[in-house]
Amino acid sequence: MSTSLSTSLSTSLSTSGKCFLVGAGPGDPGLVTLRARELIEQAEVIIYDALCNPEILAWAPENAEIIFAGKRAGEHTFSQEEINALLVEKTRAGRKVLRLKGGDPFVFGRGAEEAEALAAADVEFEIVPGITSAIAAPAYAGIPVTRRGDNSHVTFFTGHEDPGKGESAIDFAALVKLGGTQVMLMGIERLEAITREMLDCGERADLPVALVRWGTTGQQRTITGTVSDIARRARDAEFEAPAIAVFGNVVSLRKNLNWFESRPLFGKRIVVTRTRKQAGALSSELRALGADVLELPTIRIEPPTDLREFAELVQDAHGYDWIIFTSPNGVEAFFDIFFKLYDDAREIGAAKIAAIGPATAQRVKDFHLHVDLQPLEFVAEAIVKEFAAQGGVENLRILLARAEKARDLLPRALADMGAIVDEAFAYRTVPETRDVTGARRRFSDEGADLITFTSSSTVENFLDLRLPWPAHMKVASIGPITSATARERGLHVDVEAKRHDIPGLVAAIRQFYGA
Ligand code: SAH
Repeated sequence: MSTSLSTSLSTSLSTSGKCFLVGAGPGDPGLVTLRARELIEQAEVIIYDALCNPEILAWAPENAEIIFAGKRAGEHTFSQEEINALLVEKTRAGRKVLRLKGGDPFVFGRGAEEAEALAAADVEFEIVPGITSAIAAPAYAGIPVTRRGDNSHVTFFTGHEDPGKGESAIDFAALVKLGGTQVMLMGIERLEAITREMLDCGERADLPVALVRWGTTGQQRTITGTVSDIARRARDAEFEAPAIAVFGNVVSLRKNLNWFESRPLFGKRIVVTRTRKQAGALSSELRALGADVLELPTIRIEPPTDLREFAELVQDAHGYDWIIFTSPNGVEAFFDIFFKLYDDAREIGAAKIAAIGPATAQRVKDFHLHVDLQPLEFVAEAIVKEFAAQGGVENLRILLARAEKARDLLPRALADMGAIVDEAFAYRTVPETRDVTGARRRFSDEGADLITFTSSSTVENFLDLRLPWPAHMKVASIGPITSATARERGLHVDVEAKRHDIPGLVAAIRQFYGA
């Protein structure tokens, strides 16, 4: 406790700020560098733009100041000069400032100008490169930008210049002569003029072209054609920015290498309602199957109302015959306090440990403690049955570490069997009120195909948000208790996991979509 107190004091007393110009990668949160993640986790101010995947903002400290510097209807739009000034001002104020930019900060993102402004203002800065969409979007569309034998150079160019004006900085005749693979960023809306210019400069009419929109995300879309028909195809498909265009023979490799868009849940938008901290496992399994995951946490874990009372029970834990954990959160809250009070795991004494559900048991094992009883079914009723099978709990002292306001079936049933039960309220679930990643807005604007519920409280809290229910959105539940709550609240449950854990839920969703 003393270390964390002194570190937090030293950060708050630091006066020299620093600005980090950080590449946020092309969209897939898995394509963020380790350095970027580390910096997001420590940031005091984050200034991000429209091409950064906002989900990565969930890694930021709760008290970080988060500023959106892109363009969004109805909000103030920053000019480049204003952004430069803001970076300098916040850094001079002694803060750790993260300027998060989509892809790589120095590839067509005006990162150079921002770095120059920082240098001119003589504030300290660091550049963290990122994976640019110029190579990542083709890769996720099954297009290698180089292939031995096919090409020996790659060109990145901006389509933002207007070729019709005659003052374009791009020498299309030279581009055509150069050949190889050419990747165009921006200017997808000028495709007509650009391809005409290329053809006028002698490009062969059947040169393969691919357009990749929102590459590396669950919303990725790709269309292919040739330099002579891609503009028409883009218009017919109402293909819009942000997208890159790839020109070159390598585009034809896609027919064999299209790995990303052929995954089983590709194109399905799936909502994850768990707490921000717990969403990770479910989200990444769904993402790995190609789903467009929307993390929309409805609840947040907070310390219990009476932390002192909980700490006293934890302190006396060694005096119990059994400690029962009903959730991973309970395990975490318990040992968080336990190891503040004691520096030796043996202080738990002879108390035996019961854990409901494999995730709860795993959290106990993470602390290198043995789980003595783990009911086969992952519901509270099963634990009572299991104790009965083991000869009962007559006169045994049991400490039940659980959430405030949990279902009271377990303590009553154990008491009925003759046990002396103390309830330790380890944590409290409260409604999540913030929306740092903009997920609620995206949900309201664009809807979803399926929503997942992993506990009754996620159902209750989601419905309490009163967000509009998208037409045709299906419901997937982790098990019968969660399903019952959903039905009580008027929902139709389309998918119920056979195994009541995350892999079980993912398997059921896969099966539902016939994958
Ligand atoms: N620094 C960024 C590029 C900024 S310019 C990078 O390295 O990726 C903005 C352009 O980048 C967009 O107009 C689009 O052409 C491209 N872009 C960025 N992210 C993209 C994505 N996920 N999919 C397709 N194109 C993307």
